[in-house]
Amino acid sequence: MPNASLVIANWKMNGNKALAKEMVTSLRDNHEQFQAVNVVVCPPFTLISDLTRECYYDDIAVGAQTVSEHESGAYTGEVSTSQLKEAGVSYVLVGHSERRQLFAESDEQINQKVKATLSANLKAVLCVGENKSQRDAGETWDVVSQQVKNALQGIAPESTGKIIVAYEPVWAIGTGETATPEQAQEVHEKLRALVVELFGEIGNKLPLLYGGSVKPDNAKELFSQKDIDGGLIGGASLKTDDFLSICQAAQG
Ligand code: PEP
Repeated sequence: MPNASLVIANWKMNGNKALAKEMVTSLRDNHEQFQAVNVVVCPPFTLISDLTRECYYDDIAVGAQTVSEHESGAYTGEVSTSQLKEAGVSYVLVGHSERRQLFAESDEQINQKVKATLSANLKAVLCVGENKSQRDAGETWDVVSQQVKNALQGIAPESTGKIIVAYEPVWAIGTGETATPEQAQEVHEKLRALVVELFGEIGNKLPLLYGGSVKPDNAKELFSQKDIDGGLIGGASLKTDDFLSICQAAQG
């Protein structure tokens, strides 16, 4: 049975006001079917205020897809943690593979973004994952563990309650090629041990999400794995019915 407690939608550079309204209405109308699941929607910056307004009376949280590591100043195009907080955001995706690849975000920068996010009392969803050639070369765990250690360097155990780790194999993102439940669980089990090593027993409570082509037809099996606490959903989070089914699959 699934034991997933957190499902996060990553809309990337997609969506509009109509989708924001449609999604919140659908989640609201069917909320009793996934009452035990925390649902977060991360829209583009321009839709954050629409979603926070729509979600005001609902148990749906709003997240951002990235944040600046700087507090304020001459950083054209960037958005700070305090600005996100003021807009009603409570979660921030940090280190998504598209940010790493397309915008050259370094491990050091990701570590600064995690720190800025936690200092603002926002929840940081740290994204990690290997690419195809790294998997084929047997380097999956070396890559993933190093990304986690680098991103969480200098973070005190007291912050653990505000950290979520999302394992997203790059080869599975947007490709339709999902990791098998066994492949995902294998990494998640090691991730669980790593966060306990880094933070102590409290690491057992840190949510570990799987992301990468999660769809209504594979969500339940993925969410049933022992160390998978939920999902980070890209493409399927843009279709109201699919996202709803995935939220229902998390509840079991
Ligand atoms: C993502 O971008 O975080 C993601 C998991 O995308 P998709 O579900 O489309 O693979």
